[in-house]
Amino acid sequence: MQSYKMWIGGKWVDASSGKTFGAFNPATGEEIGRVPLADKTDIDKAVEAARSASAIWSQKTPAERSDILYKIADAIAAGSNELAELDLISHGAPIKMAKGGLMGLPGMFKYAAQASRSFMGQVIPARPDKFFYLQHEPRGVCALIVAWNAPLVSTSKKLSACLATGNTCIIKPPSVCSLTVLKLGEILEKVGLPPGTINIVTGPGGSVGEVLAAHSGINMVSFTGSAETGKRILAVASSSVKKVALELGGKNPWIVMEDADIDAAVANSMFQCFANTGMTCASTGRYYLHENIHEQFIEKFLVMAKKLVVGDPNDENTFMGPLVSAEHRDKVEGLIKSGVEDGAKLILGGKRPINPLLEKGYYVSPTIFTGVTQNMRIAREEIFGPVAVFIKVTSQDNVVAMANDTNYGLAASIWTKDIPKALRMANELQTGTVWINGDVIGPPEYPWGGYKESGFGKELSILGLEEYIQTKAICFDITGSK
Ligand code: NAD
Repeated sequence: MQSYKMWIGGKWVDASSGKTFGAFNPATGEEIGRVPLADKTDIDKAVEAARSASAIWSQKTPAERSDILYKIADAIAAGSNELAELDLISHGAPIKMAKGGLMGLPGMFKYAAQASRSFMGQVIPARPDKFFYLQHEPRGVCALIVAWNAPLVSTSKKLSACLATGNTCIIKPPSVCSLTVLKLGEILEKVGLPPGTINIVTGPGGSVGEVLAAHSGINMVSFTGSAETGKRILAVASSSVKKVALELGGKNPWIVMEDADIDAAVANSMFQCFANTGMTCASTGRYYLHENIHEQFIEKFLVMAKKLVVGDPNDENTFMGPLVSAEHRDKVEGLIKSGVEDGAKLILGGKRPINPLLEKGYYVSPTIFTGVTQNMRIAREEIFGPVAVFIKVTSQDNVVAMANDTNYGLAASIWTKDIPKALRMANELQTGTVWINGDVIGPPEYPWGGYKESGFGKELSILGLEEYIQTKAICFDITGSK
């Protein structure tokens, strides 16, 4: 079994306490590595290293930083097979999905490399006697705290913007999935970053994550995870009034109108619902199906869902692997049980697959509920598992009001051929993203981020870069009289 180390100040180190914790393969339950269990001493060292590196990295020209970001993009592309294989054993991602999921990462760094070079300040010619200008400056040291459902994607979104704008960072991977982020550190070792520009510390959120969020040497926390943890981070970060950006959970409405292209809507939302075993913030939280297409949609959805291959992540034909941990499977199974108890009709799954080869992994079969009503837990809480929840709506229902009736506001999808109507609905939906006849998470030029309890702040695009800068307003007298 491999022992991993943390990356602090350009060196690979054990925890100062010497303590470690286990990394497990969710497809087999087997322990596959030991990871350092950081504490406050290690975090202080990482903060110090990042502060020292900040004095160098922040003084590089945008062109110099950009060159290194291009090297990062190339290094990730070259290391993508290694990353995918580790993603498979540490996260349970089926090999095809693991490889596919990594394809977008180099583009995030290339976009940030390019965009940051034209991301300049501004002159404000508001008065003839004064010269006003705005200057972008890095925030300093950023804590990048990442969720387990897509650790490399989440890390890359944050890291690309953070580095491009001249910040240094400490990455805290999720404790159930630290290995791929540590491997990313190894891959980036030779790109020419000053030591300490990127540090990686490992351990549980409640200790390591919280110490980072509260630390007075950290200037910004960029967090991806649950709404519950996001609220806690806001509270502890407030002690030093640091900048916080939050990418939180969702319960995304998928609205299918009576004039929708049903085949396209089914095929698209099938992927969105079950890919990554439903552990996607953008997944379909609840389907609102117009009564005139309700039966037809469900019939087609059921046919496709029955064909999904659940199994060994090593198999190229596997579409759905295990859930990430036994603990998370308990949570998903608890919500499935609540759906049955609340009176929803279970028409597929709801159980673990009957296959002796999968018995030790944390599997749950694709699950479908019909007859769901708005107030059931399965219609209100983020399940983060392979569960489709169908709600029938009539012509009298105000579907937008139903979709907005949630604390979340991450994304929504509308399926219809009536585009003016879809655009009116898009205006009224209280979500950070609306997809009409499709779900495009998007290229790096396109921002991502939620409303309401799905968080605030954007990732990707110019808006994502802006999160990592502070703007100084400078004014001087040009009359020559003073
Ligand atoms: P989580 O909140 O349990 O953990 C996220 C990260 O925060 C982990 O690294 C964890 O160790 C750390 N953490 C936990 N408690 C902490 C604390 N008190 N202080 C500081 N850090 C702490 O979330 P999760 O279960 O890993 O991820 C699933 C959630 O993430 C879902 O709600 C999902 O929707 C959300 N998510 C959102 C997006 C998005 O872009 N909006 C993307 C991916 C995942």
